[in-house]
Amino acid sequence: MENQAQTGGMSVSNVAEAHGQRLERLAEVAVKVGLGLRPGQELVITAPLETVPLVRAITIQAYKAGASLVTTFFSDDAATLARFEHGTDTAFDTAADWLYAGMAEAYRNGAARLAISGDDPALLAGQDPDKVSRANRARSKAYVPALELIANFATNWTIVSAATTPWARSVFPDLPEDEAVARLWDAIFAASRVDGPDPVAAWEVHNAALHARMNRLNAHRFAALRFFGPGTDLTVGLADDHEWCGGASVSRNGITCNANIPTEEVFTTPHRERVDGTVTSTKPLSYQGTLIEGIWVRFEAGRIVEASARTGGDVLAKVLDTDEGARRLGEVALVPASSAISASGLLFFNTLYDENAASHIALGQAYSKCFRDGGVQFSEDDLAARGANRSLIHIDWMIGSAEIDVDGLTAEGRAVPVMRAGEWVD
Ligand code: ZN
Ligand code: ZN
Repeated sequence: MENQAQTGGMSVSNVAEAHGQRLERLAEVAVKVGLGLRPGQELVITAPLETVPLVRAITIQAYKAGASLVTTFFSDDAATLARFEHGTDTAFDTAADWLYAGMAEAYRNGAARLAISGDDPALLAGQDPDKVSRANRARSKAYVPALELIANFATNWTIVSAATTPWARSVFPDLPEDEAVARLWDAIFAASRVDGPDPVAAWEVHNAALHARMNRLNAHRFAALRFFGPGTDLTVGLADDHEWCGGASVSRNGITCNANIPTEEVFTTPHRERVDGTVTSTKPLSYQGTLIEGIWVRFEAGRIVEASARTGGDVLAKVLDTDEGARRLGEVALVPASSAISASGLLFFNTLYDENAASHIALGQAYSKCFRDGGVQFSEDDLAARGANRSLIHIDWMIGSAEIDVDGLTAEGRAVPVMRAGEWVD
């Protein structure tokens, strides 16, 4: 419907021009809103090979904004599969440590980071789960030096999406390929707020709304949240001195960035030992090429003690065994069931999109940004003392829907309605 409305009456060349304009506006939003790139800053981009047109548009915008150097690392699905089809056994315990160490050095030296997501959600679906998890684990370990700087917002960073053929095929399996890609682009442009004439202004309005929501939650100083509905009765204790985050934020280098384009969430840090009860996922989780559907887990004192999934359960089990922190929560986020992305009615099989369509929790590493530290960065010990979780992984999965209610629990145990039927109460 949306596609037809936008292309109706237009010639093919007009359609191409409209696409080019929106791609340029997305690139502008990525550089100005997502990164807030400063003149003289270096930029490191990671991107799937098929997203070259957006990479080039972003590179142009970055140099126009005064970038000193833009360096892009491309991933290629066919090359990834070649490893699984032809790699020797040792290939799955090897990662490019030197590459991530180099990225970490670039971030320490002031480079900004931009990731383009557009991966095939089912790329590794047919592969040996043991090899998949070994390869993920090796990569996660190698990535730690860079991930710590990103998770701590040592530099300004952002993630944007680009439509790719395999991703579009997953989202629109019944459409011809070119139509599926066009529809996915429409959804990306709409969710990224680049459809109007002044996307940067549209983001200012959106950020103000997210900040207002964040401030309301911070004023409550809830000790815990309780999610309840079909298959879910989960109490998530919040970390001591936690702070709600959302929308634009100031990274440790003083630059304001929007780490996710799009973003609809307000989120904070759970206490790693204060999560109890059961929870059922409300959307499939696409994790590194495997779809994990119908997740059900039970927490005791913060730790997952029972877990199952309708599909992908073997991959889930291996993820949970990554390290001690993989069984505990590092994030809890609230998103109304009526968010623009949710209203599209689409399942994106892409965390950046699906996590912004529903309230969610994340297994693994916490964000040190979500603390009242008065601008002085807490040490790892300070964070741990307040309940922040540590892990090699950070995996968001969706637990909200129009059937889920959320209460905030005060330190005295009083319940304050926060969401009813998936929507904000006030
Ligand atoms: Zn989140
Ligand atoms: Zn997350």
